[in-house]
Amino acid sequence: MIIAHEWNEYQMYKKRRNVDNNYLCFMIETQLHQLAQWLHTPSKMVIIPHKNPDGDAMGSTLAWQNVMQQLGHTATVLAPNPYPTFLHWMPGHSDVVIYESEEEKGNKLVAEADFIFTLDFNTLKRIDDLGIRVAESKAKKIMIDHHQEPEGYADLMFSEPHIGSTCELVYQLLERLDIRKHINKEVATCIYTGILTDTGSFRFPSVTANTHKAVAHLIECGANHSHIHEQIKDTARPDRLKLLGIALQNMVFLYDINTVYITLSQDELDACHFQKGDAEGFVNYGLSVEGIKVAVLMIEYRHEGLVKFSFRSKGDVAVNTFAKTYFDGGGHLNAAGGISKRSLAQTKPFLVESLRAYFG
Ligand code: 5GP
Ligand code: MN
Repeated sequence: MIIAHEWNEYQMYKKRRNVDNNYLCFMIETQLHQLAQWLHTPSKMVIIPHKNPDGDAMGSTLAWQNVMQQLGHTATVLAPNPYPTFLHWMPGHSDVVIYESEEEKGNKLVAEADFIFTLDFNTLKRIDDLGIRVAESKAKKIMIDHHQEPEGYADLMFSEPHIGSTCELVYQLLERLDIRKHINKEVATCIYTGILTDTGSFRFPSVTANTHKAVAHLIECGANHSHIHEQIKDTARPDRLKLLGIALQNMVFLYDINTVYITLSQDELDACHFQKGDAEGFVNYGLSVEGIKVAVLMIEYRHEGLVKFSFRSKGDVAVNTFAKTYFDGGGHLNAAGGISKRSLAQTKPFLVESLRAYFG
């Protein structure tokens, strides 16, 4: 665990970084030194992204796995549940173990691991039941993440909420560990993917000159940016576009609080043969309307008995605290998620009431 004076130092650093966004990634020297030492001896590693992994979660875990394997470790990516097919082309995809369908294998991996790396999330709640196994495991735990308010379960914490993606943090970490030479074409491709997806294609305020320097180097290492964009953005099924049409039809504008929300019911999903990831990006359409500061997408998963939320915002409007206050969620200032266990019909008025109370 990080000792107190280091934690204070860390917080002071973060204040400074708030002022100077270009300030280079800070990582507590003793932690870096400890990690470098651990990496010297070949060991068994499990690398875990958050539930419903996205491009950043898969990109960062697969990149980290590839480098660890190059260093002689036995490293496995263990995802809590499946991820969208538009990420299945990623290098290393075929070896990913999905906990939801291979629980026994996953439990064995976790129980026998020397090290568990948790990437792109800040609390073990984000990996459901797998979190209980991780907490029980005797393995050393290392968090690599960019979400605010990290939970203290890890032995080493590389937590950088100011960095736009965990993939960029992984890049910085490889640099600070002086193992950047292991960024081959596959690793570069994975890291590029996560930076791309978590920065809205390099447009969010979290993007810095350092992001672009990293990306330039990744392209030099073999990342084919055009091909990656195509794989991520241009491989949709026609059904996905039909669903987008329905989502756009369902948009409700609350002009008095500069907010828009979209609903998708289970019936609408079924009509379009919904697959994981189909609604990725839909929420952003709300923000493309002039004056709109907050956009909400809510999707009914009737079989799971819940409604899943995506929240997006512009400027300093904090959707993560809103999500935490009303919908058992969290995330980043401008991109957050949450859930409701009420029906979709009951959730809608509750959402509107909550939005008015919080942003009105
Ligand atoms: P998305 O809308 O793409 O599913 O999620 C946006 C961001 O919100 C994610 O990167 C993640 O940080 C956060 N997030 C999404 N769902 C949840 C949730 O259920 N709980 C928490 N704490 N964060 C979430
Ligand atoms: Mn991320």
